[in-house]
Amino acid sequence: MIFNLKRRPQMRQVTVQFIEQVTPRVRRIVFGGETLAGFSAPRPGAHIKLLFNAAPKAPADPKKMRSQMRTYTPRHFNPDSQELTVEFVLHGDGLASTWAAQAQVGDTLTIAGPGGGMDIPDRLTTMVMLVDESAIPAAGAVLEALPANCTPIIICEVEDAREQRSLSSSIEVAPTWLFRQEQAASPGLLLESYLPNVLTSVKDFDDVFWWIACEANMMRRLRSQLLKQPGVSKDRLVSRGYWKSETSNYPDHDYGES
Ligand SMILES: Cc1cc2nc3c(=O)[nH]c(=O)nc-3n(C[C@H](O)[C@H](O)[C@H](O)COP(=O)(O)OP(=O)(O)OC[C@H]3O[C@@H](n4cnc5c(N)ncnc54)[C@H](O)[C@@H]3O)c2cc1C
Repeated sequence: MIFNLKRRPQMRQVTVQFIEQVTPRVRRIVFGGETLAGFSAPRPGAHIKLLFNAAPKAPADPKKMRSQMRTYTPRHFNPDSQELTVEFVLHGDGLASTWAAQAQVGDTLTIAGPGGGMDIPDRLTTMVMLVDESAIPAAGAVLEALPANCTPIIICEVEDAREQRSLSSSIEVAPTWLFRQEQAASPGLLLESYLPNVLTSVKDFDDVFWWIACEANMMRRLRSQLLKQPGVSKDRLVSRGYWKSETSNYPDHDYGES
């Protein structure tokens, strides 16, 4: 979903309630506030916009506002306590990453949304997810929305073994973990090298839905390789660039289709 800043979406000022350092590169931050009344993110893979350094009322200049905005996954929302959980990758320099690394209980920011997300097809028997750490929160949400008889196959590329973590508190899965640092690999490369293993493990391509979310260049390569496989069709594949190498504030709507 592209937020139309001329038709201003609902803005909610929220306050940091809890912070948990989940792994060396991931911080889980729970936000609260009365403004979260009525919030819900019913579609898995939905996103919200986080506005840093912004007053709850949007400034007049939409360009300036966009530069202060980043896209994140509403990982969990508890309607009783009105608490919203977001998991931030601490990747280094970046408005959001720096904010999350320094965040303290009591800090505030503004959120807008949610938007987007996907419809999980009915009668799905296998869901293959190829993700890097930025999409692990969304993969967890998708996982929790799968029909009971659907087998998830999840490949997670992360920096090193310390980044392994549970994808869901309610569903047990055993993802395949790929560690960039061990092989001095650039982001996404290990997902690409691992793809042939996934393809040989799939028995019937008609039963499979593919979900790719990672660095944008690599998302395109994975998408194009998958679409060359007989039995993989565009209507059973969702791909999304979650960030782009050497690009700040990459747009949130790169589905690799052009
Ligand atoms: C639908 C959607 C949902 C998302 N959900 C999450 C989420 O739940 N958690 C999360 O952590 N991210 C998530 N992302 C990714 C997040 O929006 C980007 O990583 C964003 O660029 C971070 O902003 P920043 O201000 O830290 O860095 P930016 O200012 O955007 O970028 C600064 C530099 O950091 C690099 N960079 C940005 N992100 C990464 C990264 N992940 N790894 C390595 N280098 C990076 C850029 O290439 C650039 O060189 C999501 C993206 C989308 C589209």
